[in-house]
Formats: sequence, structure tokens, C-alpha cells
Amino acid sequence: MRHFVIVGSGPAGFYTAEALEKAYGDQARVDILDRYPVPYGLIRFGVAPDHQSLKAVSKRYDKVAESPGVDFIGNVSVGRDISVAELLDLYDAVILATGAPHDRKLGIPGEDLPGVVGSAEFVGWYNGHPEFADLDPFLNGTHAAVVGNGNVALDCARILAKTRHEFEGSDIVGHALDALDHSAIRTITILGRRGPHQIAMTPKELGELGHLEAAVPVVEPADFPPVEADEPLEPGLRKSVALLRGFADLSQDKPKHMVFDFFAKPLRVEGDGKVERIIVERTELDEKGSARGTGETYEVPASLVITAIGYSTSPIPDVPFEGGKFVNESGRIADRLYAVGWARRGPSGTIGTNRPDGYEVAEQIAAAVPAEGSGDREGASGLKRLLESCGVMPTDYDDWRKIEQTEVSRARPGSPREKFVRHKDWLQVLGR
Ligand SMILES: Cc1cc2nc3c(=O)[nH]c(=O)nc-3n(C[C@H](O)[C@H](O)[C@H](O)COP(=O)(O)OP(=O)(O)OC[C@H]3O[C@@H](n4cnc5c(N)ncnc54)[C@H](O)[C@@H]3O)c2cc1C
Repeated sequence: MRHFVIVGSGPAGFYTAEALEKAYGDQARVDILDRYPVPYGLIRFGVAPDHQSLKAVSKRYDKVAESPGVDFIGNVSVGRDISVAELLDLYDAVILATGAPHDRKLGIPGEDLPGVVGSAEFVGWYNGHPEFADLDPFLNGTHAAVVGNGNVALDCARILAKTRHEFEGSDIVGHALDALDHSAIRTITILGRRGPHQIAMTPKELGELGHLEAAVPVVEPADFPPVEADEPLEPGLRKSVALLRGFADLSQDKPKHMVFDFFAKPLRVEGDGKVERIIVERTELDEKGSARGTGETYEVPASLVITAIGYSTSPIPDVPFEGGKFVNESGRIADRLYAVGWARRGPSGTIGTNRPDGYEVAEQIAAAVPAEGSGDREGASGLKRLLESCGVMPTDYDDWRKIEQTEVSRARPGSPREKFVRHKDWLQVLGR
């Protein structure tokens, strides 16, 4: 019997488990560890609460977790409770699927002022991540700015713009719903260093902005190249750009405005003890398509600034790490040690991108670790003994089900669940 351990229960971890199960059948056991007793990573803590259909992908992961060769082991933080070296002793291969949970910094003066938050923090706050439950973003000013031109920036802007009514059917956490309901924000400026042709926003997410109850997107037609220039764009991007162009025809007669400010590079954040404005420099594209400053500067008022410019992985002791992710070659870090998902590639791609990624690494493992073999390694029984000896109490899939059922039973009308937002509350449900 072979024993494999996957560290991280997000999409990448689950697709890899599914692939290993297919490759080895009943000749292997796969343990999926997570630092939290609740699985699914960014499906729970990242994907927007008003995009419930996307979150339904977790049903597929449920099936994997329920299959006889796979176990979910929660409440275990690798690098803190147990080392990678210890896991390598216990398992035939260790696969790091720890995602990329930290915000990249802008690297400009003033970004540590109160009122500037990273998108991981803001998204975590409205999605019930225990580390960000107390974020309390400043919503009492009339202006906010979101820095970034990807889908996460759009998520943040849309969540700031929606009415309480528009969150019906979502699983946004109660504390965020109440705070957003009382928000004074009326203008949300979305800052991008380059232009409409360089966005990383997909048509579905952009399209939604044109149909909000109390908010309307605003674009400046002069920011767009002639319409013929859209022709050579890849079809998805061409559609996104067409949607953006269409925003120019919308009536501005709604109380909230989402202003796309292209060719705008943040230079510094200013304010007296807290953020009040961002100073930006107008840019143009150089020959290579990069943003080049023109020297013209102006200020964008904002008492809340959300940076959405990418993420980096958490280093783990003794695992080579560079450029915000684990150093790997096609997923292989070292003998019997692999990385998948955002921990392997960095923070790009959709949920589905992690599937071929996990399958590819599982194939490599299958080639390197034949099903029939020494079978010396202990796997889960050794892991549990080790954890017990250092006072760590792991949870299992049934525990997660108990937490989930309790969350569903606490849901407000029309919402699929009311999430617990503190680690201790999860453990309390389990009587720990
Ligand atoms: C705000 C946001 C919104 C998104 N929305 C969409 C969307 O609408 N559609 C879409 O297709 N994609 C979306 N994505 C992208 C998608 O979420 C990612 O592609 C995917 O989650 C990456 O999977 P992963 O398994 O690599 O990482 P993650 O999902 O981050 O999973 C990592 C897991 O590892 C665990 N972990 C971390 N460190 C440790 C440790 N030391 N020990 C034990 N466990 C650990 C974490 O708790 C987590 O469960 C979004 C991403 C973000 C950030």
C-alpha cells in the first residue's frame, strides 16, 4: 500500500487527490491535510459569496473526500504542527497545495496607512476567514479605490456597490452584510496601470456590473483605441473590451458609480493618520506594451483603498521558495516532494486550471512511485501518533459535515448558510 499526503484542501489539492485515486485505485491511501477544520480553500474563503453556482464545484470535492481511499484531516498546519521532513518520513510522496494566501504589496509610500487593505483581507472579511473577521474596513467615507484590473478587483468593487437586497441567496457573512448595508461609499475608482486591452477581467464578471440595482460602471471613451483595434484580440478579451465600451452608453442615473480609471499608476498613498487619497501618475503604453509614466499626476480621493494586484504563497521551512511560490520544475520540488495549484504556478488561472495541473503531477508521481513497492511507510496512523504527541487534535470529514450542518441551520432566510468566522467556534461545534 502506498501513502500520499496532500497539504491543502483547495481545488488543487482535491483534483490531485482525485487523480491519485484514479492512478492507484485501492493500492494507495491519500490524506488531504488543511490548517482549518473546514475544507475547500478559496472556494469557501475567496470566490465571491454572490457567485454561488461557482461554489457548487465543492460537491465534486465532497465525492472525492467521501471515497474510501481518501481522508480529510483538518486543523493541522504544516510547518507549524508538523514539518515537511516528518511528512516525507511517513508518506511515499508529499504534495504541497497550500495556495497563495498573501497579498502582494504595491511598494509605494503610504501603503501602510490605516484604511489601505489587501484584497485577501477584504475578501476574507466578507467571506468569513477567521484571520480577517475583525478587519472592520472603513466604509464611512464616500470614496473608495480598488487598485488592480483583474477579476478580484471587480469582485471587491461589486461587493462594495451592491445593495442588501442583491446579496439575497449569497453566503456573505452577517457582519459584512450589515456593515456594507450602512456603507457611505458612493464612488469606487478602479485603477489600472494600463488600458482596456490589457485587463484581466472576464466577460461574465464585467457583464454583471451593467445590471446592478444602485450602481453603474463609468468609462472614459478616450481611453479606448479605435474599435477596429479590438479585432485581433483573443475572443474572451474582445468580449470584455466590448462590454467595457458599452458602459459608456449607460445612464449615470444611479447613486453609486464604479469608475474605471485606466492608464493610472499609483505613486503614493496620502492622508493624515489614515488614507485620504492616492496620488497617481498618468501613463501611456511603451513599444513593449508596458506602462510608462507621463509625468502628469493627479489625486484620487479614497478613504478606503483595496489593493488587488496578486498574491504570494507562504514559505514552509526547508522548502525552496522564490518569487512568491515554491521552486519547482513542472511541479516537482525534490525527490518525493511536489507542488500543485497556486503554490506551484503562482496566483493565476481559474478553479478549472488546477485540474490539469493536479493530474499532471499525479502522473509524474505514478511514474516515480510504482503501485507495488516497499510499502514501508506508515501514512495516517504515524501522522496521528505524531500529532497526538505534540498535542494537536486533528479533525476529519465527519467533523466538517457537523460544522456545515450547523452553519446551514443558522442561515438567515434565503441564504445557504451563516458561516462561523472564528477558529474557536468551529472547534466548539465539535465539542473541543
Ligand atoms: C478573491 C478570489 C476570487 C476568486 N474567484 C474565482 C472565481 O470566481 N472563479 C474561478 O474559477 N476562480 C476564482 N478564483 C481562483 C481560484 O480560487 C483558485 O484558482 C484556486 O482556489 C487555487 O487553488 P489552490 O488549491 O491552489 O489554493 P487554495 O484554494 O488557496 O487552497 C489552499 C489550501 O491550503 C491550505 N493551507 C495553506 N497553508 C497550509 C499549511 N501550512 N498547512 C495546511 N494547510 C494549509 C489553506 O487553508 C487552503 O485550504 C478566485 C481567487 C480569489 C483569490
